[in-house]
Amino acid sequence: MLKGKSAIVTGSTSGIGKGIAEALAGSGVNVMLNGFGDAAEIERQRAALASATRVEVAYHPADMSKPADIRDMIASAEKTFGGVDILVNNAGIQHVAPIEQFPDDKWDAIIAINLSSAFHAIKAALPGMRARKWGRIINIASAHGLVASAEKSAYVSAKHGIMGLTKTVGLETAGSGITCVAICPGWVLTPLVQKQIDAKAAAEDLSPEAAKMALVGEKQPSKEFTTPEQIGQTVLFLCSPAADQITGSAISLDGGWVSQ
Ligand code: NAD
Repeated sequence: MLKGKSAIVTGSTSGIGKGIAEALAGSGVNVMLNGFGDAAEIERQRAALASATRVEVAYHPADMSKPADIRDMIASAEKTFGGVDILVNNAGIQHVAPIEQFPDDKWDAIIAINLSSAFHAIKAALPGMRARKWGRIINIASAHGLVASAEKSAYVSAKHGIMGLTKTVGLETAGSGITCVAICPGWVLTPLVQKQIDAKAAAEDLSPEAAKMALVGEKQPSKEFTTPEQIGQTVLFLCSPAADQITGSAISLDGGWVSQ
């Protein structure tokens, strides 16, 4: 169904983005990877995904805090694949601190990488999608796009912003064959969350396992982590004809977090 289409997944050298890129490539979609990491390891990951799935897998090193890099990434994918049909805005970072102590540069970086990057990528990718009369824009938001937690002012602001951007782009593209949807995961056990588990273990003198269970249990009623594979499968569903009328809205994979 998706064979021959092409996607960019930002921040796909790790965690959720990696899971989404693997799901798309496994469904016959050519994928451009993006994100930071060791160059040799990224090349190994790129080559392994290409040989396992037989699709074209490319990599672009765009820094998602830099609009010119983002435009270059979209142009490069259009040149390599002939178009960008699926854009997954996933790259993101976290910083946890009370607002009085929240470093200005962390605020700026989180707003740039977790929010403004999606604006720049969507703006650059939409003309091609409109020309081909089909497109999927999937923004990886968070339960923190719908509710807040203390000490995450920048992250919660950026993720609530992504929800507004998703609604606006959904309206502007309605009826054009293009949809824009936000996915709102709860806790997913990735390096971004591992840092918070390590901090909790140190602050509360807990074992790594106890800190992990305390963190997930505090917010997520299922007491189970959401997985990158589940998010990858949700992206495939959103790319299917069954999801043609899902636009401007959000899908939660959070074990009941925001129902409380
Ligand atoms: P992660 O740290 O495992 O991966 C983040 C990815 O983004 C990496 O590939 C990293 O290299 C890339 N990245 C970071 N800064 C970048 C930049 N400036 N330019 C390009 N790439 C950059 O994190 P993750 O948990 O997989 O998070 C992915 C997304 O999912 C984020 O938007 C995050 O907010 C969101 N999310 C995560 C969770 C969770 O529990 N892990 C929950 C809800 C939402």
